[in-house]
Amino acid sequence: MSQKKTVRDYIRTIPDFPKPGIMFRDVTTLFADPRGFRICIDQLLDPFADQRFDKVAALESRGFIMGGAIAHQLNVGFVPIRKKGKLPGATISEEYLLEYGEATMEVHDNAFTPGERVLLVDDLLATGGTAGAGVKLCERLGARIVGCAFIIDLPDLGGRKRLEEMGLRVESLCS
Ligand code: 5GP
Repeated sequence: MSQKKTVRDYIRTIPDFPKPGIMFRDVTTLFADPRGFRICIDQLLDPFADQRFDKVAALESRGFIMGGAIAHQLNVGFVPIRKKGKLPGATISEEYLLEYGEATMEVHDNAFTPGERVLLVDDLLATGGTAGAGVKLCERLGARIVGCAFIIDLPDLGGRKRLEEMGLRVESLCS
């Protein structure tokens, strides 16, 4: 009998997307498979089984797909962290550097009550710029980031180191 597929087996790599030379890790094939999606969510939560959370915060846009399922599973609220100009209410924002240029992430300024315990999620950790901005936004509103969970970590790009240097716990399913 063949061995059961792991989370890694459900992810496909698309060469030269969105630009020549980039190997894009595509998680739509993982989310599209009912078993793949379920084991992904379960395994992301495994390391935090002994922790209590008040909210899940997720980064636009693939993070929302995981974040909604995780918040439902934990029976806690969901907070979207979005690209500039997408959230309708009053926001706070954080700029961060991209390979070329910069970007801004925003969160509603009433998204957290001070002291709330938060799990931050996204599909992939590369340089850590996106997640780092998300962490800062949550912390500026008084939330406590208990952990950061990613499906994929690209350790050569330094994101894990960057988040760990901010004193954060980082968990991922494959690298
Ligand atoms: P970072 O800010 O850590 O450099 O980049 C991480 C962000 O870029 C995440 O929000 C992630 O969704 C996106 N990203 C960058 N490269 C990839 C990739 O190959 N696959 C996927 N699924 N997302 C990527």
